[in-house]
Amino acid sequence: MVAMPEKQRDIVLVGAGIMSATFAAMLKELRPDMRVEIFEALDSAAQESTDAWNNAGTGHAALCELNYTPQNADGSVGIARALAVNTQYDLSRQFWAFMVRKGAIGPPESFIHDVPHISFVWGDDNVAFLRKRFEAMSAHHCFRGMEYSEDRSVLERWMPLVMEGRSPSQRVAATRMATGTDVDYGELTRQLLAHVQKLPDVAISYSHRVTDLQRTADGGWQVSVRDVNSGAVRTVSTSAVFLGAGGGALSLLQRSGIKEGKGFGGFPVSGIFLRCDDEAIVDRHLGKVYGKASVGAPPMSVPHLDTRFIDGKRSLLFGPYAGFSTKFLKHGSYGDLFGSLKNDNLRSMLAVGRDNFDLTKYLVGEVLKSKESKYASLREYFPEADPKDWNFIVAGQRVQVIMPDEKRGGKLQFGTEIVSDSEGSLAAVLGASPGASVAVAVMLDVIKRLYGGSLDSWKGAMTEMLPSHGRSIADDAALCESVRADSANALHLATL
Ligand SMILES: Cc1cc2nc3c(=O)[nH]c(=O)nc-3n(C[C@H](O)[C@H](O)[C@H](O)COP(=O)(O)OP(=O)(O)OC[C@H]3O[C@@H](n4cnc5c(N)ncnc54)[C@H](O)[C@@H]3O)c2cc1C
Repeated sequence: MVAMPEKQRDIVLVGAGIMSATFAAMLKELRPDMRVEIFEALDSAAQESTDAWNNAGTGHAALCELNYTPQNADGSVGIARALAVNTQYDLSRQFWAFMVRKGAIGPPESFIHDVPHISFVWGDDNVAFLRKRFEAMSAHHCFRGMEYSEDRSVLERWMPLVMEGRSPSQRVAATRMATGTDVDYGELTRQLLAHVQKLPDVAISYSHRVTDLQRTADGGWQVSVRDVNSGAVRTVSTSAVFLGAGGGALSLLQRSGIKEGKGFGGFPVSGIFLRCDDEAIVDRHLGKVYGKASVGAPPMSVPHLDTRFIDGKRSLLFGPYAGFSTKFLKHGSYGDLFGSLKNDNLRSMLAVGRDNFDLTKYLVGEVLKSKESKYASLREYFPEADPKDWNFIVAGQRVQVIMPDEKRGGKLQFGTEIVSDSEGSLAAVLGASPGASVAVAVMLDVIKRLYGGSLDSWKGAMTEMLPSHGRSIADDAALCESVRADSANALHLATL
């Protein structure tokens, strides 16, 4: 690690997960002379939510996740949220394709694979919903190629393990998109950081925890950093700060004291996955099969049976089972939740406690679930699963955002929230979903907030990185087809 000379930083990035790695890589493309220093509390990159086994690795493009297509009161299915997520994921693909082509990361098979995305439901009401959803989605060019079937022989071909041993009287249906992906966000992050670390004016300091932030008279920041090994504390100055600290972002946002961060809180939801590495089983399933969420379940806790490609090996993952821990990071402290309670967010936190009884009930149920009932959930998706082939693994911590809300006092938010100051000197990413998949879209928003004044002069570099920049692939079918074919070609992925 080479520390930067004092007073020479344009920006300090806190955390070495997918968000900071994406931000650093994009910034250095837009302004190669940008002086960037990254501080990471752990001894290497991507060990929290971004680690491959700490998340599900779904390239969230709203192809299979039913929570992005709610049923309206009149029975119709809304696809607006699905379209937003779908086109945001496309920006990530365009950026990764650009980075692969310039030789900065890759080969693509080291971090991304074709894995069909399948939505699977049973029961008359759910089948009716899925059909309506299919009709609404497949009418839009962004979801071209989506297939629908209630025919058991087709479903057996798409997902044999899900169908074998299933009651013949159960009415079932599924949709399938062959262009779905599995992504190893941990590997991608390490490759992005290895690339930026080689560039001039970039320093990455591992085992360095940011402990405090103070605004300076010139509008910049003094950042206190503790060397985790020696205990030595130093203060560094910078013009801007990005808090890409995952579950650690809320406490630093609170420390910064910016008024825009007042009233925010966090609610941790931990996750457990089941993992199977037995080749005879793994080789018989290729897909990410997403079902319907239970009542009260946070949207991203819907059960799914997934093919994963990690470290050159294919595995299966099922879950997540939600759990409760007061930690905000897997390597965090049990005091995180209590430490986050402040005078300014008590009202929002209490309001969320009052208004989310279903979530509380769901979490209590999940925490109390025995091993047997966890296997019973697995068998809903893989009826002939044998517990001896599966191991429980602890996934990453999600910290759901609690936002101030004038009417209700506070509301629980399941998406990603960016909080920044009006001066454009600090931005924080809070929340978890759709998360890593939309890191490029999230960073574009952060770039607008921190460097809005430079956007015009960066147009050329931006379009090189993101060919659809400034245009809408949701409105322009030909553009959508051409950028998708182009990123598929660079990333060695399927096209339709
Ligand atoms: C169970 C689960 C399943 C998920 N599934 C998916 C999925 O299928 N697809 C998807 O796209 N997304 C998924 N996500 C979300 C995704 O993993 C996250 O959105 C993403 O990894 C967040 O990246 P990050 O860089 O913001 O945070 P992190 O990866 O958590 O990184 C934050 C880093 O900051 C460091 N840090 C914290 N505090 C400090 C400090 N004070 N000083 C220095 N360093 C600090 C931490 O050590 C950590 O390395 C899932 C998440 C979970 C938990």
